[in-house]
Amino acid sequence: MLSVFNIQRYSLYDGGGVRTTVFFKGCPLHCQWCNNPESIDPFPSIMFDERSCHAFGDCLKAGEGYIFQSDGVLHIDREHITCFSRLRDICPSKALQICGRIMSIEEILSEVMKDVPFYSMSGGGVTISGGEPFAQDHILSTLLSEIKSAGIHISAETSLHIPWASIERCLGSVDVFLADLKHLNAEKFQRFTGGNLDLVLDNFKNLDNSGKTIVVRVPVIPGFNFSEPELFQIIDFAANLKNAAEINFIPFHSLAKEKYAMLGKEYIFGNQRNVEKHELLPYAGYAEKKGLIAKILN
Ligand code: SF4
Repeated sequence: MLSVFNIQRYSLYDGGGVRTTVFFKGCPLHCQWCNNPESIDPFPSIMFDERSCHAFGDCLKAGEGYIFQSDGVLHIDREHITCFSRLRDICPSKALQICGRIMSIEEILSEVMKDVPFYSMSGGGVTISGGEPFAQDHILSTLLSEIKSAGIHISAETSLHIPWASIERCLGSVDVFLADLKHLNAEKFQRFTGGNLDLVLDNFKNLDNSGKTIVVRVPVIPGFNFSEPELFQIIDFAANLKNAAEINFIPFHSLAKEKYAMLGKEYIFGNQRNVEKHELLPYAGYAEKKGLIAKILN
């Protein structure tokens, strides 16, 4: 069984052509700007939108004491609550929703197989994303083999912050790796993501030596890496990889603000300014001079 938080059909930005993107839950990093904060916890997450709550009280009964009211405000003990299946469809106004479900390989396959004709026509396929998909490598590898044996192209979006053995287990099935490179300063990387940069860089080296196609993905985040020396250093790193022909810049936006509020999480980057696409043109130009195909994504 695999922990999944979304399966998005007709996705156009995750690896070429029309694709179905499967978003897996659970991530070893906790990037302060993360656009998918509901993906970080490997277990189901409770999202609560106070504005839509009509106080029907159904969640209080189903919440086994972990959802309660005090001073007219609803509280959720997210640390201890486990009755997710009882809560899944309990709220008539959808103010309280459960994000994420455990799915079998067969259930995921039946979703991704729906658009096989579109994949063939458009040069698309299936993309695995997250969270960090390779955190579920043992069962994921079986899913990917099944998809591959149906002749479907597979792209994998990854933070590369995972033991190499987990990536290696799935390596044979993946055609293109969309690999994040967030920063090249170990201290800054650790401070903003909680991660270990050496692990990411070792995995870049291993991946490059494996001969797999790599697309380097750079989230451009003000206050973290949005400066000429930092972005040039990242571009230089990408240009020196043997198997990375393309670099993608992903401009920061704060659209995830509401999701953080609904998850009861603090959003440290919530008031940070958005990055406009035109601000990244000089970096795309620099990357192209270095021999890379450069794209600025939405
Ligand atoms: S690696 Fe991606 S999914 Fe994980 S915390 Fe960072 S931005 Fe979010």
